[in-house]
Amino acid sequence: MLNGSLPQHEIVLLGAGHTNAHVLRMWRMKPVTGARLTCISDYPVATYSGMLPGVLAGQYPRERMEIDLVRLCASAGARLLWGKVERIDCVARRVYLEGRPSVPFDLLSIGIGSRPRGAEQFGDSPLIVPIKPMQSFYERLEERLKQWFSAHPGVESVQLLVVGAGVGGVEITFCLPAAVRHWLGDIKLELTLMDAETTVAPGTASRTRRRIVRELQRRGVQLVTGCRAVAVEGDCLVTSDGRRWPAAAVVWATGAEPAPLLANIDARRDDRGFLLVRSTLQTVDHDHVFAVGDCATLVEHPVPKAGVYAVRQGPYLWENLQRAIRGEPLLEYRPQRNFLKLINLGDGRAIGEYHGIAFQGRVWWRVKDWIDSRFIDKYQDYRPMMVVEPPSVKQHSDGTERQPPMRCLGCGGKVSASVLSRVLHRLEIPRHPQVLLGLEQPDDAAIVRIPEGSHASVTLDFFTPPLDDAYLAGRIAALHAASDCFAMGGRPFAALAGITLPYGSAKRQEELLYEILAGAVRELRQMGATLVGGHTIEGPRLMVGFTLLANQPANHHFSKNQVRPGDRLLLTKPLGSGVLLAGHMRAMCRYRWYEKLLEWMLKSNQPEAEFAAEGRASAITDVTGFGLVGHLMPMLEAARVGAELFLDRLPVLEGARQLIEEGIESTLAPENRGWEPKLLADPTMRQLPEYKLLFDPQTCGGLLMAVPPQHVDAWEEYWKERFGEGNWWIGQIVGPELAGQVRLIRDSSP
Ligand SMILES: Cc1cc2nc3c(=O)[nH]c(=O)nc-3n(C[C@H](O)[C@H](O)[C@H](O)COP(=O)(O)OP(=O)(O)OC[C@H]3O[C@@H](n4cnc5c(N)ncnc54)[C@H](O)[C@@H]3O)c2cc1C
Repeated sequence: MLNGSLPQHEIVLLGAGHTNAHVLRMWRMKPVTGARLTCISDYPVATYSGMLPGVLAGQYPRERMEIDLVRLCASAGARLLWGKVERIDCVARRVYLEGRPSVPFDLLSIGIGSRPRGAEQFGDSPLIVPIKPMQSFYERLEERLKQWFSAHPGVESVQLLVVGAGVGGVEITFCLPAAVRHWLGDIKLELTLMDAETTVAPGTASRTRRRIVRELQRRGVQLVTGCRAVAVEGDCLVTSDGRRWPAAAVVWATGAEPAPLLANIDARRDDRGFLLVRSTLQTVDHDHVFAVGDCATLVEHPVPKAGVYAVRQGPYLWENLQRAIRGEPLLEYRPQRNFLKLINLGDGRAIGEYHGIAFQGRVWWRVKDWIDSRFIDKYQDYRPMMVVEPPSVKQHSDGTERQPPMRCLGCGGKVSASVLSRVLHRLEIPRHPQVLLGLEQPDDAAIVRIPEGSHASVTLDFFTPPLDDAYLAGRIAALHAASDCFAMGGRPFAALAGITLPYGSAKRQEELLYEILAGAVRELRQMGATLVGGHTIEGPRLMVGFTLLANQPANHHFSKNQVRPGDRLLLTKPLGSGVLLAGHMRAMCRYRWYEKLLEWMLKSNQPEAEFAAEGRASAITDVTGFGLVGHLMPMLEAARVGAELFLDRLPVLEGARQLIEEGIESTLAPENRGWEPKLLADPTMRQLPEYKLLFDPQTCGGLLMAVPPQHVDAWEEYWKERFGEGNWWIGQIVGPELAGQVRLIRDSSP
C-alpha cells in the first residue's frame, strides 16, 4: 500500500508468465530499494502449462496449476493491475490500458506468451476451443462438451479432435479421455489428433516420435497428418482436402503465434511478429524494455517457443532489472542446447527424451511430477515476507543515504500548484448546470446554485485506500462517499476532493493524483455529478476522500427514525468486504474472492436508492465502517423499535466465512462488537461466521433499507430483473417490546 514516500523507479511486468513470475517471487524475498513493482495481467491468475495435461488427466486438482496473482502480488508488496493492454509506447514509456489511465514505467518486461496459430480464422465458432487463454481452457471445454451432450440426449459416443500435434497437443490428447469421462460419464470416446505437418512432435528425436505414435495407436487415437483445417460447418471441421470431421469439440493446440498486442508496440519484431531481443533480454531498440518467454525471439540464439526457456530466463531478467537500475552492465543469457523433455501419458507413465535418447515408464512420470511440483510450490507460497514500505531516504550517487529535505507543514505542505494544474488539465471534468464557478476557471472557492424550493445535503468520507491500485481507489472512494447521499435520498451534483499524497517527486505525485481523480471523475460522471475543487497535501500516507453536495427533495429525506414495526429489512450488497480486505493485506484473499469483492465494491448504490425514493422504503442507511449491526442500531434507537435478523439469510461475499474461520478479522471489528449486549442470541449462534460478519466494517457496503410490507413485491420484481437471483430480505422490524435490541434467528424457514 502507498505509505511513506513515492517510488523513485517504476518497474512494470506485463504478463505474469514463467519469466516475469520469477521476478515477482524474488521481489517478495528481496524488494529493490526505492522501486515499485507493478504487474499488469489480463487475468488475476496465471497457469503453469506443464501441469495442465495432469489436471485434465485428474492427477492434480485445478488449483495445483494456478498461480494466484492477487496473493502473490500482495505477498510481494507488488501492485497488481488487472486489465487489457491496448498499446505500449516505449519512447514515452507508457502502457496504455483499456478503460483506465495509462501506466508509466522506467523499466518494462513484456512476457505475454503466445497464442495458438490460426484459431481466429474460425471467428467465435463454439466448436473450436483454443488452448489459450489457458486460465479458462478447462471451463470452456467442459462447458462446450456438456452443452453438446445435453443437446444430443442418448448418444453413446462422442468424437473429439485435437488440432496441433506438437508436444503440447500430444500431451493433451493422452490426458483428455480422463477429463471427458469426468464430465460426461462412461461414454465411448473417438479421438483424432490432426496436424498440417507430416510428423508428430516436431523437434523431438525420431525414437521419441515412434514411441508417441505407438502409444496413440495402442489407445485407438486416429492420427491424421498433412491435413489442414480450413473451415467450420456447424459441428464439423472441414479440412483442405474437402473432408468433413464431425466433432463435439475441436481442441485447438497449434504452434505459437504472436499475440496481436505485439503489433502495437514500437519495437522491432521478427518475420513472424515476435519481439526481437538481445541476449541481455532487452529489446533491440530500447534498453529499458525487456521481452521474455514465448513473445520474444533472441536475435543471436533463436530457440523454439517452450516454457523451459522462459523459466531459465527468469534469474537473468531479475538480475538485469536490478543492474539496469544501478546502471551496471547486464548479464547475457545463452539458452541451453538440450533439455529433458517429458510427455505425460495420463496413466501414471511418461515418455521422456534427453540428448536424443528416448525412454518411457512410470518412473519418468514420477520425475515429471517431482520437477513440476517443485516448480509450482515456489509460486504457491503466499506468505508475506515483510511489510514493504518504500524508503523515505534517497541515495547519493556513491550509494550513501541522504535524508529527504525537511518537508513543510501547514499550507507549505500543499502539493505544488503545477502538479495540480497539470492533473486538472489531463482530466475530463464534466460540466454541471448547477456549478456556476468550478474547475474550468479555478478560484478560491466554487460557487453552486441550489434550485429554488429544493435543499442540499452535504457529506464527507475519506480513508486510506485498501488497495494498491490508485485508479480503483479513486472510484471506490467516490462511490463510498456518495453512498451517504444515496442513503438520504439525495442526488449528488458536486464533489470536493480531499487527498493526502505521500512524499515524492512532482512527476510521481502527478501520476498518482491523476489516477485517483480519473477514477473518481469516472464515478462522479456516472452518478451525474462533477468535481468542483478540493485540497491536496503531502503526508506520510495516502488518504483519499470526498465531500459531496447532493440535491435533496425539499419535502423528503430518509431519516433513521422512520422505521416501523412490520417493515422488512433489505440489504443491497453482501457482507464481508472488511474481512476480505484484511485477508488481502495478509496475502490470503484468493483471486476468485477478490474478483467478486471488487465487483461489489465498484457497484453504485444509486439505482437501489432511486428505486427506494419512489416511496418504496421508510428508512435507509448505508452500511460502512461500523458494520451491519452498528448501522442498524441507531435506526432502532431513533425509532424506539427492535429487529429480528435471520442469520441464514445474510448475503455473504465468497471467502469471507473461510477467512473468519482462519482467524482473520478487520482491526475495527472488535470495536464494533460493542453492540453485542444488545443482541439476543444463544451462545452457539455467537460462534457462527455469520454472527461475526454482523460486526465486519464494510468499504463501499450496501444500503440497509426498511421496506413497508406493501412494497415487498415491487422490490422482488426489481431484484429479479437487475440481478436475476433471489433478494436479500435479512430480517424485519418488531415493536417497542424489543426497543433498541436485535433478536438473532438462525433458521428463518417457517
Ligand atoms: C498444453 C501445453 C503444455 C506445455 N507443456 C510444456 C512443457 O512441459 N515444457 C515446456 O517447456 N513448454 C511447454 N509448453 C509451452 C509453454 O507453455 C510456453 O512456452 C510457456 O508457457 C511460455 O511462457 P511465457 O512466460 O512466455 O508465457 P505464458 O506462460 O503463456 O504466460 C503469459 C502470461 O501473460 C498473460 N497475458 C497474455 N496477454 C496479456 C496481455 N495483453 N496483458 C497482460 N497479460 C497478458 C497471460 O494471461 C499469461 O499469464 C506447453 C504448452 C502447452 C499448450
